[in-house]
Amino acid sequence: MENTIVIGSGPAGLTASLYLARAELSPICVDGPLPGGQLTQTTEIENFPGFPEAINGFELIMSMRKQAERFGASFKSDVVTQINGGNGAPFETTFLSGEKTLSKTVIFATGASPRWLGLDSEKRLMNKGVSACATCDGAFHKDHDVVVVGGGDTAMEEAIFLSRFASSVTIIHRRDKLRASKIMADRALANPKISVAWDSVVVDILGDDAVEGVKIKNVKTEEISEIKCQGYFAALGHVPATELLKGKVELDEAGYIVLDNGPETKVAGLFAAGDCADHTYRQAITAAGMGCAAAISAERYLESLNDK
Ligand code: FAD
Ligand code: NAP
Repeated sequence: MENTIVIGSGPAGLTASLYLARAELSPICVDGPLPGGQLTQTTEIENFPGFPEAINGFELIMSMRKQAERFGASFKSDVVTQINGGNGAPFETTFLSGEKTLSKTVIFATGASPRWLGLDSEKRLMNKGVSACATCDGAFHKDHDVVVVGGGDTAMEEAIFLSRFASSVTIIHRRDKLRASKIMADRALANPKISVAWDSVVVDILGDDAVEGVKIKNVKTEEISEIKCQGYFAALGHVPATELLKGKVELDEAGYIVLDNGPETKVAGLFAAGDCADHTYRQAITAAGMGCAAAISAERYLESLNDK
C-alpha cells in the first residue's frame, strides 16, 4: 500500500511530491496526458519568484521535477482513469495501462485543459492549422496570417509569440475590453503586427484540408465578415480536468473542485491542489502553494492514521 498518489505533474503536483518526498513518504507522481503541465506549453515565465531575469517554463518544470526526485519522489508515465475508495478505506487508482494501485491518500492536481469554441470546423481542421498552443505550432506559420481567439493573458502571450513568425496576427475578442492584465495587453497592442477584431466571435473556420480563413460576426452590428488566415489559435481559457471526480466530491458549476479547510475535499484522505481547484488565480505560484498545502495536510492525515 502506497502512502500517496499525486495525480498530475504540473507545479501543484510537483510541489506536493517534493514536500511528501522530503517527509520520507515516497510519493508516486503520475504524469498524465501532459507531463509537466501547462507551463511546458509556454516560453518565458516572468512572475515566478526567484527568477529576476525570467525562466523558461519547461526549464522551471524540469528543475521542480529534479528537486522532487532528489528527495525520493518517483514518477509514473500513465493516465489515471478511475479513483475509488477513501473515507477510511484505501484508495484504488486505476490507470490507462490497466494497472491498479492502492494508497492511503490521493492528491488530485490535474490542472486544466484548453477550452474550444465547439465548432465542427475546429475538430475537422485540428492540427491542420487549428491549435491551442502557439509555442508548439507557431513555427509552422512563418510569413502566414494567423488569428488568436480570446482576450485573456494567454491570448496576448500567444499573439506576441506568433508575431515572431507570422506576417500578421489578429486577435478576435467577443467584447470591447480585454480580460488580460494591463502589462500583457499593452505589450500586445503596441506590437505593429498585432491587431484586434473587437466585439467579434468566430462562427466558422474556412478550409477543407487546411485553415484558409475564419468567418466572424460582429456581436453589436451582426455584420459577418471573413479574415484570410492559415492559422487559428484558440486561447479561450481552460476547463478543469475533474471528470474523474464527478459524483465523488463537490464541484462548482464550472467543474472546479470545491475545497474546505485548505486543500481538503469532502472525501477524507483526498486532497486537491492547483488549477483543478482554483477558479480565481490559476497561476504557477498559487498552484505550487496549493501543492505544498495539500502535501502537509496529507502528511498530517497519514500521521492521524498511524495514531489509530
Ligand atoms: P497543470 O500545469 O495544468 O498540470 C496538470 C497535470 O495533471 C498535468 O501533468 C497533466 O498531465 C495531469 N493530469 C491531468 N489529467 C490527468 C489524469 N487523468 N491522470 C494523470 N494525470 C493527469 N502562470 C503563471 O504564473 N505565469 C505565467 O507566465 C503563465 N503562463 C502561462 C502560459 C500559458 C500558455 C498557459 C496555458 C498557462 C500559463 N500560466 C502561467 C498558468 C499556469 O501554467 C498554471 O496556473 C499552472 O500550470 C497550474 O498548475 P497545475 O499543477 O495546477 O496544473
Ligand atoms: P482567461 O483569463 O479565462 O481568458 C479567456 C478568454 O477567452 C477571455 O477573454 C474570454 O472572454 C474568452 N472566451 C472564453 N470562452 C469564450 C467563448 N466561448 N467565445 C469567445 N471568447 C471566449 O484564460 P487565460 O487567458 O488562459 O488565462 C488563465 C490564467 O492563466 C489567468 O489567471 C492568467 O492570468 C494566467 N496566465 C498568465 C500569464 C502571464 O502572467 N504571463 C500568461 C498566460 C496565462 P471574456 O473576457 O469575454 O470572458
